[in-house]
Amino acid sequence: MNIVRPKIVVLGAGYAGLMTTKQLTKVLSPEEAEIILVNKHNYHYETTWLHEVAAGTINHNQARVMLSDVVSQNRVRLIYDEVEKVDKEEKKVVLSNAELSYDYLVVALGFESNTFGIKGMEENAFAIKDIDSCRLIREHMEYQFAKYNNNPDAEDHSLTILVGGGGFTGIELVGELAERVPELCKKYDIDRSKAKIINVEATPSILPGFDEELITYAKQSLEARGVEFRLGAMIKECTEDSFIVGEEAEEIKAGTIVWTGGVTGNSVLGASGFELNRGKVSVTDDLRLPEDENIFVLGDCAWVWNKEADRPYPPTAQIALQQGVATAKNIKALMYNQPLNNFEFHDKGTVASLGSTDGMGSVFNGKKLFGKPAAVMKKVVDNRSLFLLGGVGLILRKGKLNPFDTL
Ligand code: FAD
Ligand code: NAD
Repeated sequence: MNIVRPKIVVLGAGYAGLMTTKQLTKVLSPEEAEIILVNKHNYHYETTWLHEVAAGTINHNQARVMLSDVVSQNRVRLIYDEVEKVDKEEKKVVLSNAELSYDYLVVALGFESNTFGIKGMEENAFAIKDIDSCRLIREHMEYQFAKYNNNPDAEDHSLTILVGGGGFTGIELVGELAERVPELCKKYDIDRSKAKIINVEATPSILPGFDEELITYAKQSLEARGVEFRLGAMIKECTEDSFIVGEEAEEIKAGTIVWTGGVTGNSVLGASGFELNRGKVSVTDDLRLPEDENIFVLGDCAWVWNKEADRPYPPTAQIALQQGVATAKNIKALMYNQPLNNFEFHDKGTVASLGSTDGMGSVFNGKKLFGKPAAVMKKVVDNRSLFLLGGVGLILRKGKLNPFDTL
């Protein structure tokens, strides 16, 4: 006899989607539901490591994990396809190559770069989006260095790397570049003083809103390693080889330009007609789409309100992983007409890398970390994420092994 099981479809195998899927296999038996995970690629990638892939300080293969290695295909049907839109009236998902019906849906398709309509940015700047876009940044940057001594007309600015936006992504990226650029100079016989790394930030400070002491540490540490900052410098335009900044329309030229000035929710949300607030869904307390009780929206696609601070939580891997755990339990509750639990975020702090041996952040109720201890903590956090998604085996294969080497 064929038993018709409810169909749970999870869109996106990032932190939120993969965690939801793995937890669903724990809270539900095979007889209770069919679980389907849809992802653009046949691999998950560690989004939080993408700045390292872009700078070339780690190999891209370290940051990606084949889904078939971490998801049991006895329990989960894997579909590698691109989601185009959700048709919530028909309860189906339109993929590039097929359509899929669902009873319960989890939308966890992550972020897209947001250029805020800045002239030329979309066309001329690279952005940290996924593994392939970061490989392109790495290759382009290396090509600029390889070309320099082979072209008598090469101008010094072709070696400059401009990073637009001094939020966490921009700062972590320049931290890696401070390590990578000296290596590239050595490899291609280029004087280190010729290759500039410039971070351009619109507000008067990098990491606006973050702890002052930690900001000062990060800025001084990066400057000591050759990073230049242009603060209070609003980027107005991006040309093929420059940013135009500030009221005076100053031109800063470069051979590699990366935009890290902001992110928004995946464009599938808009294509699906979901009600959006600045590109994301303002979800209910139990992380559902307000207009459809069978659709959960997680991770960088969702605004989750922090009632204490009266603003949304910043989108992070940490919150996305916790949402995955909560959502698997809530889907089970929904299936059995039980009450759902509101999502509660347990903040474990924020740590940022400033290259592989430096960092800063605050953990455990505000305790501040600087320098090597922070770098060790960041690697422990990176390994923890691998552990949560793929156990000890995944740490052994892909982990930042022996983080204490940093000390
Ligand atoms: P993601 O992890 O981005 O996953 C989305 C998935 O959906 C991907 O697998 C993607 O391929 C897939 N997908 C996208 N579109 C489609 C489609 N149309 N069809 C099919 N599949 C699709 N947060 C922290 O907590 N700590 C950090 O140290 C940290 N560092 C960061 C460093 C960088 C460089 C960046 C960019 C972000 C960092 N963040 C960090 C933020 C964190 O990475 C995100 O908040 C987190 O990845 C969100 O998880 P998610 O599951 O929503 O999306
Ligand atoms: P963001 O929005 O946090 O920062 C973007 C920065 O670009 C801001 O400082 C903004 O002032 C600046 N900017 C915007 N427009 C500009 C312009 N025209 N000219 C110059 N500067 C401009 O984006 P992000 O850094 O990509 O971070 C996205 C999310 O990912 C955040 O929630 C962050 O917490 C998270 N993240 C966390 C970590 C970590 O925990 N280590 C690392 C990376 C990202």
